[in-house]
Amino acid sequence: MSNKTQEILEKYTASVMPTYTPSVVLASGKGVTVRDVDGLVLYDFTSGIGVHNVGHCHQKVVKAIQDQAARLTHASNLFATEPATELAGKLVELSGLGGKVFFCNSGAEANEAAIKLARRWGSQNGGRYEVVTFRQGFHGRTLATVAATAQAWCQAGYDPLPVGFAYADFNDIESVKAAITGKTVAIMVEAVQGEGGVMPATKEFMEGLRALCDEKNLLLICDEVQCGMGRTGTWFAWQGYGIEPDLFTLAKSIADGIPMGALVSNAKLADVFTPSSHASTFGGNPVAAAAALAVISVIEEEGLLARATEVGGLFREALQGFVEKYDKLLEVRGVGLMLGLVVDGDPKEVVDALREQGVLALTAGGNTVRFLPPLVLKEEDLEEATDMISDALDCVFGE
Ligand SMILES: *Cc1c(COP(=O)(O)O)cnc(C)c1O
Repeated sequence: MSNKTQEILEKYTASVMPTYTPSVVLASGKGVTVRDVDGLVLYDFTSGIGVHNVGHCHQKVVKAIQDQAARLTHASNLFATEPATELAGKLVELSGLGGKVFFCNSGAEANEAAIKLARRWGSQNGGRYEVVTFRQGFHGRTLATVAATAQAWCQAGYDPLPVGFAYADFNDIESVKAAITGKTVAIMVEAVQGEGGVMPATKEFMEGLRALCDEKNLLLICDEVQCGMGRTGTWFAWQGYGIEPDLFTLAKSIADGIPMGALVSNAKLADVFTPSSHASTFGGNPVAAAAALAVISVIEEEGLLARATEVGGLFREALQGFVEKYDKLLEVRGVGLMLGLVVDGDPKEVVDALREQGVLALTAGGNTVRFLPPLVLKEEDLEEATDMISDALDCVFGE
């Protein structure tokens, strides 16, 4: 570790609470690469945890942010703005659900809004409030979303957690049926679990959830915070399953790094929140909304939905090759450019070796190396990164 990195990390550890333990200090990013403070260039196959779907500092997004920052940076929601209004219309159109949007600032906050909206609707529909979520799922770090996240490492030390959640097994419709009671109001699911290990739902499971919600008058909530905005090859991952949720949430990749969250409803739930029943001072911030509008037009103009599928297919093949080569690599999972390499062992060892070779990747679910490269990834960059991944795997698993 060189001087500048060392120097900043020492100051960081002295004054930033140790919720994260970084070993790289980033200075800039461009497209699919980032540069650290010592000038080292790395492939960013984390996309800032699924944020930079259009790559770092896309010129259209940069321009939109700069122009809006010079015009108006905040309007408090007591006053409307053009960017947020236009963005809401665009999200409703892309969803095809005919509903409305509530804007906030993060994934946790978007899921909180979804849970609150479901409870509010449930209070008017049989006094129901319980939300069924899934083991290995992830929904955020506020108290309610931690209660919704059925994972011990996320909940430890935070008792008492808010009540009103029941847990079921992912891809197991019978366990969902068993978790439903007279108090159940909604089922919240990631179509592709991210933090839990890059685990896609099966088509039968998503269809089964929709049918169950219709039969029992429950709301289906899709958490699209990680798998949304084109990552899996459709605007929203649920669209790849041929079902429609009642509510879905977005955040991470919506505005290419400017903090923003959104809750999108269908027509039935469009007016459940009424004046003052829910709020967020920064929600729909005009700079974030301008960035999000630029992100959507870049995805459209550059055909990034199709690219996620195409380049994702090539990357998947390359990873499958490694699975065949090394006994310690068990499986490739995922959809589009949301891919997981399942390891018999500690995935952190692989992630560290990848960084040494020049590729940033993530862990997930205790045994998975997670790749979330920007959707603008070109074939030649993928080839170069694949060579680096090959070298890293050879360091860890080679004879
Ligand atoms: C990251 C994530 C969240 C939480 O988003 P924050 O912006 O960190 O609050 C919620 N759900 C899923 C699926 C996520 O991946």
